[in-house]
Amino acid sequence: MTKNNDLMEKIVSLCKRRGFVYPSSEIYGGFANVYDFGPLGSLLAKNIRDIWIKKMVQERDDVYLIDGSILMHPKAWEASGHTVAFTDPLIQCPACKKRFRADKLEGWQLKKDNQTGRWEVIKQGSLVCPDCKANLIPTVKEFNLLMTTEVGSIAGEKSKVYLKGESCQNIYLNFLPFRDTMTAKFPFGMAQIGKAFRNEITLGKFLFKVREFEQMDIEYFCAPEESDKLYEEWKQTRFNWYIKEMGLSKERLHWRQHSPEERIFYAKDAWDIEYKFFNDFEELEGVHNRSDYDLKQQGKFSGKTLDYFDPTSKKRFIPYIIECSGGLQRTFFAVLVESYREEMIKDEKRIFLKIKPSLAPYKAAVFPLVANKPKLTDKAKNIFNSLKSEFMVAWDDIGNIGKRYRRQDEIGTPWCITVDYQTLEDNTVTIRDRDTMKQERFKIDEIIEYIKEKLK
Ligand SMILES: [Zn+2]
Repeated sequence: MTKNNDLMEKIVSLCKRRGFVYPSSEIYGGFANVYDFGPLGSLLAKNIRDIWIKKMVQERDDVYLIDGSILMHPKAWEASGHTVAFTDPLIQCPACKKRFRADKLEGWQLKKDNQTGRWEVIKQGSLVCPDCKANLIPTVKEFNLLMTTEVGSIAGEKSKVYLKGESCQNIYLNFLPFRDTMTAKFPFGMAQIGKAFRNEITLGKFLFKVREFEQMDIEYFCAPEESDKLYEEWKQTRFNWYIKEMGLSKERLHWRQHSPEERIFYAKDAWDIEYKFFNDFEELEGVHNRSDYDLKQQGKFSGKTLDYFDPTSKKRFIPYIIECSGGLQRTFFAVLVESYREEMIKDEKRIFLKIKPSLAPYKAAVFPLVANKPKLTDKAKNIFNSLKSEFMVAWDDIGNIGKRYRRQDEIGTPWCITVDYQTLEDNTVTIRDRDTMKQERFKIDEIIEYIKEKLK
């Protein structure tokens, strides 16, 4: 086993041990490729979402947040091409009935037609089931990744609807009401964090390939002739966001351009931001110039004209779309991979998450030095209560101080505040820093300012 597989296992273990991520439905033996965020994971995910909204919406004047439903008119998915083209090449083992992606089986090479969703076999590889070693039949089926459900009281084709295969589609459908009601200055964008569902055939690496996930999307509408320039600007903006706001290191991030075969036929240009999770670089976010395809397609299928009249140039046109589509679970996973640390302190292993304080689930933890001295616990409770209205803070009075520090280190809490006997005399506490483990004394009424200053 390589060192990196080790790291992966350590992160999965930490996620479960400390309430970041639980496998779904574990009491029933689990439910493949679906995970729940636990108490700590929910806070980390929320912080990622909040920072994304702050930077992409709040601090800009041209991007507006929306929050669309998962269910949409099924025609939208015909228009987008998903009902036919959103496929993986499937081979099913006749013996054990396990399903595999043909392009992931040894020695196989396939090519997908992005318009029809058909997979052409270029080179046939192994015909042995990786699981039970039975012989496979070399018939490749197109397997659609869209999940379906039914609405209404009568089952059948007419009531079939799709769960979102990608979260952004309803942004295109909302272009018209947005254009007509918001008096937004062009060019403008709509941002949305929403769920997407995919019937993945193969099992993924922890949070990397999951059947239900969240996407953080910006669809930026612009004039065709401005799209190249704006595309470059958005590429910069999004790349820097991962470094500056998520704390990912520049060396582990890179751009990868889609090859001509891979690029969807209507896209003008397509690059992915990739992060080196373990040995390989894998996609975090796609930043694509989608031309006017989406609005044209939804216009064609709905019979509406999804265009924009520019009062300055007096021109009417169908806007181009620059799309920035990032995965919340993947970003979450990348933040953990980036921040996981182990070090030896006097023969004892210390595990800590060197996470940006702005992302940390708890900004601080408050401890009374010992749990059985009411004077200390009362004082500590007062501090805890006063911090609670400002930040997410943790309370811990179980075990000795060393154990409590270790627990907070593992969940990335940047500052631990301890109330000791000196506190009772001079109203000072110690604040211990997660990364340096240094302790300094501060006055109680300086704590909030101290944390706020550090969070800037
Ligand atoms: Zn088999």
